[in-house]
Amino acid sequence: MHMDPRRAVPQTDSLLADSRLIEPQRRLGRPRVRDAVHSSQQRVRDGSLPVDQLIDDVLSGLPARATSFTPVINATGIVLHTNLGRAPLSDAARVALIAAAGYVDVEYDLVDGARAMRGRGTLAALRAALPDAGDVMVVNNGAAALLLAVTVLASGREVIWSRGELVEIGDGFRLPDLVVCTGATLREVGTTNRTTAADYAAAVGERTGCVLKVHTSNFRMTGFTSSVPIPELAGLDPPLVVDVGSGLLAPDRLLPDEPDIASALRDGADVVTASGDKLLGGPQAGIIAGRAALIARFRRHPLARALRVDKLTLAALEATLGGPRSPTALALHADPTLLRSRAEAIAARLGDEARVVPSDGAVGGGSGPGVALPGWAVSLPERYAALLRAGDPALVGRLEGGRCLLDLRCVPSPADDLVTRAVLACR
Ligand SMILES: *Cc1c(COP(=O)(O)O)cnc(C)c1O
Repeated sequence: MHMDPRRAVPQTDSLLADSRLIEPQRRLGRPRVRDAVHSSQQRVRDGSLPVDQLIDDVLSGLPARATSFTPVINATGIVLHTNLGRAPLSDAARVALIAAAGYVDVEYDLVDGARAMRGRGTLAALRAALPDAGDVMVVNNGAAALLLAVTVLASGREVIWSRGELVEIGDGFRLPDLVVCTGATLREVGTTNRTTAADYAAAVGERTGCVLKVHTSNFRMTGFTSSVPIPELAGLDPPLVVDVGSGLLAPDRLLPDEPDIASALRDGADVVTASGDKLLGGPQAGIIAGRAALIARFRRHPLARALRVDKLTLAALEATLGGPRSPTALALHADPTLLRSRAEAIAARLGDEARVVPSDGAVGGGSGPGVALPGWAVSLPERYAALLRAGDPALVGRLEGGRCLLDLRCVPSPADDLVTRAVLACR
């Protein structure tokens, strides 16, 4: 006689109590594991799954992690890849943010047992990194930093801004739109290619809230151009806000056209805004540095609360500022000779299909346009690209000239073996 397969199906609760399903419930939550149990039970009832394989089937149906994110090995050679989350955090920053994940004294003085200034350790680290700043503040991102500064200084008033610096950052994000939504009026001066100190001076008046200078992060103008350097604008009466964008703390010889926060302050900017997850190499954040009296006004504005950062960001930022060189700095300054020998070692293990080719990396993230970072890549047939992206971790290369290039600039060298095995697994 044919046995009713339903009889053979173990109960949900007894399956969830199986020792092999305990850890997944801790990692993913009971409901998710229960759903996977239910679908495996259904397969046993259908007769499509032998009952002794039920637990294995549940395990194979569970996601590897609780989020939908798939970790990526960035073999594009683009250091600040916006689609891949911009700056990767250093090990120090990762440890710091996990340590901050539980209860933590972010806003509490353990000596007095009383409330303390939120994120004071992070702010102290930022002040130490920017000794020319009267005070500093951290908000959600670079856009938030600009939003807060312009709202406080120029809402209901005018922002004087060169026509050569009305920038679209990317993905349709236009800084003029952001500034207008603060309730300020744009007072455009100069022309697309040329703006002079006299243009700014002529626009200053009773309605001026601030003068804004924005780094044209992602494009360069050449030819018959002129713009006004910070020291000349600092001589004008209204507060000068400078958005340097990429968050370099000090000049970097590799990126001569990239402005930095310290120089902008020394040149006389009253307020400097920047991102935390571009060249600073930290978590997404907005850095504000400048005159103490202005920063105090920013802190008191209601928007400051809406734009504030969480303890995880504060922790990761502090560890980035005080810690070892960031992965971003290491990738930018990677030694081409070393990149070549790493590429050769990987290619040697991959056989005929792999070649080693020169490869220019890029800064990315809207920074250092046109700056080529000379390096080397493992070149594979194009069909590898999709296969490598489907892995876990996903390996994302760069398509160029009908080949899939694996540029090692942004791959930490301990991951070379992982890269090699990922390619071999595609065969
Ligand atoms: C990137 C950038 C921004 C925006 O910063 P986010 O941190 O992405 O919000 C603003 N201004 C400039 C000049 C930038 O380069």
